[in-house]
Amino acid sequence: MADDLLYVNVELPLQAYTIEIGTAILDQLGAVVAKLDGVRHAIIITDKNVQSLHADTVTNSLQHAGIRIDMLVVEPGEASKSIDVAGQLWNDMLAIGADRTSMVVAVGGGVVGDLAGFVAASYARGIRLVQVPTTLLAQVDSSVGGKVGINLPAAKNMVGAFWQPEYVICDTETLCSLPDREFSAGLAEVVKYGVILDEAFFAELEENADAIWSRDGAVLRRVVSRCCELKAEVVGQDERETSGLRVVLNYGHTFCHAIESLTGYDRFLHGEAVSIGMLCASRLAASMGRIDDAMTERQRQLLARFLLPVEMPPLDPEQMIEAMLHDKKVEHGQLRFVLPDRMGHVELVEGVDLELVRQCCQ
Ligand code: NAD
Repeated sequence: MADDLLYVNVELPLQAYTIEIGTAILDQLGAVVAKLDGVRHAIIITDKNVQSLHADTVTNSLQHAGIRIDMLVVEPGEASKSIDVAGQLWNDMLAIGADRTSMVVAVGGGVVGDLAGFVAASYARGIRLVQVPTTLLAQVDSSVGGKVGINLPAAKNMVGAFWQPEYVICDTETLCSLPDREFSAGLAEVVKYGVILDEAFFAELEENADAIWSRDGAVLRRVVSRCCELKAEVVGQDERETSGLRVVLNYGHTFCHAIESLTGYDRFLHGEAVSIGMLCASRLAASMGRIDDAMTERQRQLLARFLLPVEMPPLDPEQMIEAMLHDKKVEHGQLRFVLPDRMGHVELVEGVDLELVRQCCQ
């Protein structure tokens, strides 16, 4: 199996760490963690779905390496990214005697990664963290870049930190137990990387769409590692979202957030709304003469092959614009869009004609 391991290095100004990508490698996590300096106690944070599927394997592997383990299990779903659940975890950690030498091991999707990462960032002013992402979205997106956090009742991801893990281990085998719809939603983010940063990768996705959909280990390793490389490059240049470079990752998100807000956050998974949002943004770019219609069609076909929604739901364009203007990412009332000018390259565009935006919302 060792030949099949891929590594991505994330180089940040103050810290560097490795993302290891393989298939059926969770039972080797203990050996990996034991090599990190002086780890004796780990708190595995996971959710109820992932506990028996994958977190127990992680526990056995860490125990086998002589590390003392405690496991804390939260309810699956976005509602766990809350002040209450974070508070419960802090108290549980105190009760089990976690101290500054303990390490948090987050085993789960983006919810567990964000929540456990935030708890690691804040408990005892910050303790060590290893991420073991088990959804495609978490492997290609949320576990890379160090953004961790919880939601406030009125605002998603409003409280958090930049807290980098010491190591990330992505096991593509864990994706085999993922429901199709969740897998599909992660693929929207994968397609996004191709459109915004890497034309050749987009072509690779087109070529390997069937193998990806059947969750072939070798193809998934390549897909996950390329996405991690691309995100790591962006994050390495703009760790704390200060230079604006990280904004390219928001391709499709202005439309996506408005769709999510107008459909009550329960009709679409985030990745599904990203799929529709990317096509809206691409149509907008075409209507401004930045790309031709064929580029939008290429994206539509690939997203449809991954069973992602590609049609705009019947929403009032006026309400879409309103929702976009109220997005927390809007600065000084100015709508800004990340738009492609060719496959593999996007730019941040301001001062877009609202009439064109309206037309792309239908
Ligand atoms: P999730 O964590 O809710 O996981 C989706 C569902 O899949 C859950 O029910 C979970 O229990 C289940 N699951 C997880 N792994 C499984 C597996 N291997 N087999 C079977 N079921 C499994 O959702 P997600 O899409 O992974 O993450 C969404 C979260 O990520 C959001 O809260 C979002 O804000 C966050 N996010 C963070 C960043 C970041 O940079 N920090 C980036 C993007 C998204």
